[in-house]
Amino acid sequence: MTDTSFNRLQFKKEDLIEPHIIYGGDSFIWGEGLDLYMDTPYWISERSKRNEWDQLFEKTTPESNKFRETNRFPGLIESKTGLKQIVDPTNGGDYQSSTDIVNFNLNESTNAVVYLFTSVDRNFLHSSMHCECEFCSDMKPKPFNVYFNYLSKIANNEPIDAWLQSKIDYLVKYENIPEFHLRDFDIHKMIQHMDTIFHNIRKRNIDYFVANHLKKWLKTHKVYLIDSWCQWTSRNYIHANPFIEKHLLPLKGYDNNWYKMYSEWERTFPHERMSHEFPGCQNGHPTLLQHQYLAESVITAMKKDSILFNNTKSII
Ligand SMILES: [Zn+2]
Repeated sequence: MTDTSFNRLQFKKEDLIEPHIIYGGDSFIWGEGLDLYMDTPYWISERSKRNEWDQLFEKTTPESNKFRETNRFPGLIESKTGLKQIVDPTNGGDYQSSTDIVNFNLNESTNAVVYLFTSVDRNFLHSSMHCECEFCSDMKPKPFNVYFNYLSKIANNEPIDAWLQSKIDYLVKYENIPEFHLRDFDIHKMIQHMDTIFHNIRKRNIDYFVANHLKKWLKTHKVYLIDSWCQWTSRNYIHANPFIEKHLLPLKGYDNNWYKMYSEWERTFPHERMSHEFPGCQNGHPTLLQHQYLAESVITAMKKDSILFNNTKSII
């Protein structure tokens, strides 16, 4: 996961003049791990080895990149419909890069926006990389990561440095996040309580997304939202928000039923994640088959909305 870089979100003008779809999202949209589906002796042997991003990024080649770009669901949609895929060229993403790619590039040639929710905890405290408050102004840390780092240090009896303490002090003072001490520390209970502790920050950031991004895009374009793979985000913030719920894309399951909840949808497949199809690779991204069903789901919705002709061929 990397932070937003202005430069990597500037696409070539000629790409943006052609009819296209802009995809906002994270490594699920980028197609992490699809390289493992290449039928070459090298990639077949890689399927049983640990291949999360830390291991995988050094092994990618121009051929495997091409394979990934063609077989991820934006690529499948492009090959079926001719609508160019505008996808962040860098793997991963937080809320900022997922929304920036749309905000920077949306134009009159954009046929639709497809936006996949990442984890709500990948957001900045105040949803903006331009915030100059005491918490955000120096390194734009993500509050959940700051707090988790703080808890880990307590659990491991490591010192809390002045920078980390200043961020915790801010969260205690302005966000009602409890300071913790070893004497009342139970890491298992704390992880369960993170959901309660971070509720207000998460809710505020989702509301910010709706007010400042989604409603703006909807004024001029059709927007298809895809539920988050993160179950906490999905259950407590996506499906709890009626406005977002209304714009969620129904996903076609392997059982031919339609789902708006990602976790229910992925369970209909023979393999829920890549790590189940290729035991040992430990990569938790969607399978090649799931990318095909995601593509089919977007195409079905675009036909229904008359963005695509009804005779557009199916993916599956
Ligand atoms: Zn701030």
